[in-house]
Amino acid sequence: MNLTESLLLWYSQNKRPLPWRETLDPYKIWLSEVILQQTRVSQGMDYYHRFLAAFPDVRSLAAADEQEVLKLWQGLGYYSRARNMHHAAKEVVEKHNGIFPQTAEGLKKLKGIGDYTAAAIASICFDESTAVLDGNVARVISRLYAVETAVDTNKGRELLTDLAVQLLGNHHPGTFNQATMELGALVCTPKSPSCDTCPLAFSCEAFKRNTVTDFPVKTPKKAATVRHLNYLVISFIQNQEEFILMRKRTGNDIWKNLYDFPCIETEAAADIEQLLEKCNERGLFGGFPFTVKQVSEEYIHQLSHRRLLARFIRIAVEGTPEGDENITAVALHHIARLPLPRLIDLYLANVLLEEKFR
Ligand code: SF4
Repeated sequence: MNLTESLLLWYSQNKRPLPWRETLDPYKIWLSEVILQQTRVSQGMDYYHRFLAAFPDVRSLAAADEQEVLKLWQGLGYYSRARNMHHAAKEVVEKHNGIFPQTAEGLKKLKGIGDYTAAAIASICFDESTAVLDGNVARVISRLYAVETAVDTNKGRELLTDLAVQLLGNHHPGTFNQATMELGALVCTPKSPSCDTCPLAFSCEAFKRNTVTDFPVKTPKKAATVRHLNYLVISFIQNQEEFILMRKRTGNDIWKNLYDFPCIETEAAADIEQLLEKCNERGLFGGFPFTVKQVSEEYIHQLSHRRLLARFIRIAVEGTPEGDENITAVALHHIARLPLPRLIDLYLANVLLEEKFR
């Protein structure tokens, strides 16, 4: 048996019974691939089922309200994935009459679908003879051939793709791609690969040289940027109901179209008095008297390239501040219905919804 045959035999005997392996529907394959790009299977499974229950096909997703889509995505992070899926679903409906393009090239023209997702959908659903290069596959191939070129460079990606295509040969592309991904997820894992039970060990260069953990080679990471977020959690009472000022995030920063609180970002930990002055200047309190109720501990929230250090300053205003085009008053009991970044959700769960505000 050669390398590819060994891999396919191992896959037929060891693959996990995952719901997206029971279908060739490009919508469902697309959804599973997008969810799993940055998420473990165990965490992604619930989201997959909930998303399909709400939007069972591309037409229902295209017709959905963006806020509803983001709310379902809440907690998964990388919200551009959800926004792009929503946008691409509309493209499929409006430009392709609800039918997905059947080639990787055609799929890549849809918003948010890159080389990897396009190759996965085209090979699994439409038998296109193309190799998928996700993190798992890159790790397996780079170890099998002891590839010294960094896998996160164009040259590295081209080299690994060529090697994967050679391995694929005339075999069924969807099965081959899923088999390689599964081997990377279950056997050829990043830190402690199970080489002793690996079906490819007989031909693995890194294993032979005892240099497995040297691969995949990557370019050194830049240090994560640190951002200091000072959140103003401003509340007031109107008609005996408690309201909080919530900000819809716009622009090209993190968490676009999700909701957080009005925020003043500073280069270092800020002085509370100075912050309050700035808020007053911006008219956040509507000129009404206010009281600082609490200043939270620092919350540390790690994103892929950024480290967020956040403090929440709870302020009660005696009046009805109006906000602006992005800042609106939301009744306390409605906040949980908004799409929220995980950091905000965590703060609310810890403090606001339990204690009430006053
Ligand atoms: S032998 Fe080890 S390093 Fe090589 S492919 Fe198998 S698990 Fe990965």
